[in-house]
Amino acid sequence: MAIQTNEYPARGYAATSPESGMAPFRFNRRGLRDNDVLIDITHCGICHSDLHTARNDWGRTVYPVVPGHEIVGTVSAVGDAVTMHRVGDRVAIGCMVDACLECDHCKAGLEQYCKNGMTGTYNGKDRQDGTITFGGYSDRIVCREEFVLKVPEALASDVAAPLLCAGITTYSPLRQWKIGPGSKVAVAGLGGLGHMGVKLAVAMGAEVTVLSRSEDKRADALALGAQHFLITTDKAAMRAAGGQFDMVLNTIPVRHDVAPYLLLLKIDGVQVLVGMIDKMPELHTGILLGRKILTGSGIGGLAETQEMLEFCAEHGIAPEIETIAINTVNDAYDRMEASDVKYRFVIDMASLAEGSDPLGRGASAAL
Ligand code: NAP
Ligand code: ZN
Repeated sequence: MAIQTNEYPARGYAATSPESGMAPFRFNRRGLRDNDVLIDITHCGICHSDLHTARNDWGRTVYPVVPGHEIVGTVSAVGDAVTMHRVGDRVAIGCMVDACLECDHCKAGLEQYCKNGMTGTYNGKDRQDGTITFGGYSDRIVCREEFVLKVPEALASDVAAPLLCAGITTYSPLRQWKIGPGSKVAVAGLGGLGHMGVKLAVAMGAEVTVLSRSEDKRADALALGAQHFLITTDKAAMRAAGGQFDMVLNTIPVRHDVAPYLLLLKIDGVQVLVGMIDKMPELHTGILLGRKILTGSGIGGLAETQEMLEFCAEHGIAPEIETIAINTVNDAYDRMEASDVKYRFVIDMASLAEGSDPLGRGASAAL
């Protein structure tokens, strides 16, 4: 395979330690391999996983880390053998940039569960040269063409970005568990993932209840299409709702007891954990003997992600976003941690270049 040796200088934001916060960072993107696409990034969503990684919540962060896996941009160059994308196309990248594409899981369209391990968009290890991948808080990215999705015409780039993680991570389990008209779905945690879970489940025809700690989100939950809103600290209300749901989609990003959510399920109902919470507190198996299913789900495969983008375009579904300049990303992290975001921050990448000198040398006002 021919590899261009001329790398692409890139600028972005990186964390250099769990306590450092995010700061301007310069680095190089690899020269294009035959099947690579170069993308000028216009927007990148901020996922709670970015914060977990920047702060090393899961103990496996390699620093410096450039987070960001809700990426939208425009193709600006393609490798010699690229057939799927052309210069000028509006495209997107989610949480993975590579996988073996040969194992059973990959062949079944479940690249996120690649038996040989998918390559994360950031903090992943490149399969060919072993370098650590850098994510979307930057002006450009190089990615193998199969892992680049097409953004449907009807979706604006800023609102398309959060679909690449928050959208697919909630769409996939809803599809897997065949949610549709007549289903009762509860979504736990009304944040980036949760609010997409509500919109998607409603569009699929389900009756949706939001389970939240925050009374001030009640009106929003109903405006998003949920029929019911339950405060999780209200024990009597939680008890009264027991045994009703086909599915609880649990997006809570901290260690917590999942038993109260299992009790909400009907027989054969399923609680899908998508929040990354490390270890769970102990769970009494007696709860599961009521034929409750406890499972998890990780993002979605490539074809399913493309399908989700088309579904959102067709149904007019877009996340609720707050667009920010990249130099406010630390503030955005603090606000996300305090559940003070309605409901996804999206970085407008033009803010990275503003105030910079045209040759890209030295510190800039915006950085
Ligand atoms: P987010 O925007 O911060 O939303 C999380 C929501 O959970 C909050 O808005 C809040 O909702 C609730 N919450 C927050 N702290 C809580 C606490 N201490 N106790 C109970 N509830 C709490 O986060 P996100 O971006 O949606 O991500 C959610 C989780 O999913 C993260 O752990 C992230 O790493 C993970 N994730 C997993 C995948 C996957 O593939 N499985 C993909 C992406 C993200 P209320 O105010 O309504 O209570
Ligand atoms: Zn994410």
